[in-house]
Amino acid sequence: MTPDIVRCPSCDGYGWMEDEETGAAGDCDWCGGAGYVYREANGIDRVIPETDYPLVAAELERLETERLREMGYSGGAKKPWEQRARGENAKNMRRD
Ligand SMILES: [Zn+2]
Repeated sequence: MTPDIVRCPSCDGYGWMEDEETGAAGDCDWCGGAGYVYREANGIDRVIPETDYPLVAAELERLETERLREMGYSGGAKKPWEQRARGENAKNMRRD
């Protein structure tokens, strides 16, 4: 059994945070860049280990699709479970 997966309350599913002072984007500390976290039965949020990505990829994909649809667009940054090897380009969102 795996715990429930919820949208990261810190970055709201983006997986990265923009530094308020420098404007530089970096991985969200709360979820480790995934945008989603495990929510344990006791209400504690926990980072999804990268080794678990293959197990939860389908669920993450579903949540991500839902999130993007809510926001009204498709596409965007690749998440770690989609690419495995993280590149800087993956975090760059289109802003045009
Ligand atoms: Zn986060």
